[in-house]
Amino acid sequence: ELDWQGKRVTVAGLGVSGIPAARALAARGAVVTVVNDGDDERSRTQAADLEAEGITVRLGDGATLPAGTELVVTTPGWQPDKPLFTAAAEAGVEIWGDVELAWRLRGPDAAPWLAITGTNGKTTTTRMLASILEAAGLRTAAVGNIGVSLLDAVLGEEKYDVLAVELSSYQLHWAPSVRAHSAAVLNLAPDHLDWHGSMEAYAADKGRIYEGNRIACVYNVADQVTEDLVREADVEEGCRAIGFTLGTPGPSQLGVVEGILVDRAFVENRQKNAQELAEVADVQPPAPHNIANALAAAALARAFGVEPKAVRDGLRAFRPDPHRIELVEEVEGVTYVDDSKATNTHAAEASLAAYDPIVWIAGGLAKGATFDELVQKSAKRLRGAVLIGADRALIREALARHAPEVPVVDLDRTDTGAMSEAVREAARLARPGDTVLLAPACASMDMFTNYNKRGEAFADAVRALAATGDA
Ligand code: ADP
Repeated sequence: ELDWQGKRVTVAGLGVSGIPAARALAARGAVVTVVNDGDDERSRTQAADLEAEGITVRLGDGATLPAGTELVVTTPGWQPDKPLFTAAAEAGVEIWGDVELAWRLRGPDAAPWLAITGTNGKTTTTRMLASILEAAGLRTAAVGNIGVSLLDAVLGEEKYDVLAVELSSYQLHWAPSVRAHSAAVLNLAPDHLDWHGSMEAYAADKGRIYEGNRIACVYNVADQVTEDLVREADVEEGCRAIGFTLGTPGPSQLGVVEGILVDRAFVENRQKNAQELAEVADVQPPAPHNIANALAAAALARAFGVEPKAVRDGLRAFRPDPHRIELVEEVEGVTYVDDSKATNTHAAEASLAAYDPIVWIAGGLAKGATFDELVQKSAKRLRGAVLIGADRALIREALARHAPEVPVVDLDRTDTGAMSEAVREAARLARPGDTVLLAPACASMDMFTNYNKRGEAFADAVRALAATGDA
């Protein structure tokens, strides 16, 4: 238990994680200063509220480290090369993220964490895990990067047996002492490299999730880097490496045999050498990448001692969040699927692998990505492509290089209404039995506020098409 009385803490950034952090620290007697880059209307209102509670706020200067700072608590969005952090490092001052703070402030009888990270599938897997834990009768919640603050969960009134914790690479970067009961890295593909500086630094931050694990480190057999991270991690004695695979599992693995999810790592009935968990059809949607997510969730739940039956019940009860391979409607024999959340090529590749033939709606902000590999892997399933958004030329050129026979409609517009036209064009290209798939492989901010709005625009256009025959 730390003594916070009089400790001088600088909180980097107002906002959803900065404000609760400042309050929690002040409530423990720390002398808190919040520094914030912005100095707008909203931050002034927030600052006034905090000042009234005895917290100092410096607006318009997030670069200078206040004199006498003994600890910096940062919000996850702040890039590690900021002058504030350089100054802190030079002064030998520790830097904690919001997750580290939650970990340090948790009570002595706090619930253990089952932690999940990866480039794609984090939210889905965390929710699947929470659903399984609930089915097992455990008091639990899906928290962390999922939009529910860990600090709230840890400091709140509610009592938990175990938490399903989604962690981003940013959060892991600033979480040096967090020790999970068990943790999983789902997959690793280039993303957020602007923030981390390099793929190596990104992977190293993801790998932090395994440090100090007590029971199991869960890795993806198909993704060698995740296994390497387990091998490099410093874990508690007796902690096991557990793999998940879409194929037949080895002895310390969970996998799939003839349409059944099976566990060969945590076998209860020694008579048999595998335990049946669920059927592929129990997982929604039953796409390959999503079966992988279900296996990872099952591995963590099993590491916590959950029975096979609860795994099945939890997976059956699970429903995906909106805009993640969401079935919108079937119109004239064509299925319309919204995977607006596929904001990078790795995610889009997963949903493109799940359908055949596809009319693909793609484009937006590429964030420095290249599309050759994605197009090469998906080309034979494409009936056609409709391109929207700022960086659509990059996808058009990749299609011209690797799939010249695929018809492409290049919509030269970035206004919000472009989605209706895209759906109309896709409907023209599609034949009965096809899937029209919105899997942009790009961020949405060139045309929409966020991926939710992009997905809603798509769904609205599909519903209009269903109702009137015109999107
Ligand atoms: P995250 O929280 O990591 O962003 P989500 O669960 O929200 O992940 O899924 C985001 C998108 O990533 C989905 O819409 C889907 O296209 C894709 N996806 C989900 N799981 C996987 C996976 N295991 N591998 C590759 N892509 C995936």
